Amino acid sequence: MTYIKKEKAFNLTATKLKHWHHYAKHINNPDCIFCTCDMYKIAEFLKEQGFEVLDVGHAWVKIKAEKNYKPFHGGTTDEINLLFNIISGKKAVQDQVKIKTEELRKNNEPMICPQCGKTLKVRNGPYGFFLGCTGYPKCRYTKNI
Ligand SMILES: [Zn+2]
Ligand SMILES: [Zn+2]
Repeated sequence: MTYIKKEKAFNLTATKLKHWHHYAKHINNPDCIFCTCDMYKIAEFLKEQGFEVLDVGHAWVKIKAEKNYKPFHGGTTDEINLLFNIISGKKAVQDQVKIKTEELRKNNEPMICPQCGKTLKVRNGPYGFFLGCTGYPKCRYTKNI
């Protein structure tokens, strides 16, 4: 007799994904897999991040869920929290910092602090992106970008 273990899984639907991604205020970026909502690309990305993708359709990705699994409206698990963090902001903010840094580089923006000579870096604050000194907190130089 074969015993087939029922997989604990949840559906990451396109609707849920868009909703989570809106937290990142990252909208209509044609290079972002979450903005374009291409579930096949998203499935590939999730595999790279170490998730076990069980199945994928044009509007959903089925992901294996194991840690602290509680079946409730599709399940709550540590995997969902992790996914939420990736989709809702952390990843998108990193992308935006990368894009901003590239822009500044192209415009030959000096990335050296005029006050202490250390490198400047793009930072994300409550009022948006700015250049901050890597010598912080000793050096408090900032510049609007
Ligand atoms: Zn996006
Ligand atoms: Zn400085």
